[in-house]
Amino acid sequence: MIIYLDGRYVPEEEAKISVFDHGLLYGDGVFEGIRAYNGKVFRLDEHLARLYDSAKTIDLAVPITKEEMAEAIKETLRRNNLKDAYIRPIVTRGKGDLGLDPRRCKVPTVIVVAVTWGAMYGDLYEKGLRAICVSVRRTPAESMPPNVKSLNYLNNILAKIEANHMGVDEAIFFDTHGYISEGSGDNIFIVKNGAIITPPTLNNLRGITRQVVLEIAQSMGITLLERNLGYYDLYSADEVFVTGTAAEVAPIREIDGRVIGNGKPGPITRQLMAAFKTVTQKEGSP
Ligand code: PLP
Repeated sequence: MIIYLDGRYVPEEEAKISVFDHGLLYGDGVFEGIRAYNGKVFRLDEHLARLYDSAKTIDLAVPITKEEMAEAIKETLRRNNLKDAYIRPIVTRGKGDLGLDPRRCKVPTVIVVAVTWGAMYGDLYEKGLRAICVSVRRTPAESMPPNVKSLNYLNNILAKIEANHMGVDEAIFFDTHGYISEGSGDNIFIVKNGAIITPPTLNNLRGITRQVVLEIAQSMGITLLERNLGYYDLYSADEVFVTGTAAEVAPIREIDGRVIGNGKPGPITRQLMAAFKTVTQKEGSP
């Protein structure tokens, strides 16, 4: 595997960073998760915009331009001969000392890793996922904005651990105000009486798949609402699904033991799954 590391393309064994890198010591950095379909990077501009906005928010100056980052991503794909891939650009604060002061870190570290990727949830796209609402809350926008895709994913990992202990597939976060936020690594939608409803994006990540799904739903003439949701809305929904770069559009069939709808992926979810696939195939066509 070939990795982009600070301007060089090196074999995985040589892709090494310092143990004093603040990405490792403090989770001080940002990243993206991007897909390529048939060798073409999906929604690259949107992902680059979010990466640089995340960096700006944590006062981290990315040492290469967006154009250079785009090239590093494409070249990493080419060098690994990847067609259907998941790409992970990472920018850390760089090497410092054991103190947390970012001024000690003179040069940010830039990494791009790409691996081959298929359907993340396998047969669960047909069956639907089981989920729980976790007790850990999504970090509030007034402290560490969830809009920042930061290297510190402990909040999400705690959520995932809770779901793992309960033997279910996904965790659903609430925010500190008691509204539904998102999944551990994806945005959440409900369907009620034919309308699609999703929470606003102050207290979750502004998902790019979320945006694509909203565009698809709009083009299909489905009613869209963006509003705060609570437990009641989740449990009484006709359909629930999550969206993300890795998960794509994935149906949820059960939440906290409540069967959603008839316990199978609902008709609107299925339509959106199919339409999303068409969009990715179209954008990935030669
Ligand atoms: N929410 C979180 C916490 C995520 O990590 C992700 C994945 O990137 C998403 C939502 C979905 O965002 P996107 O569709 O841009 O991948």
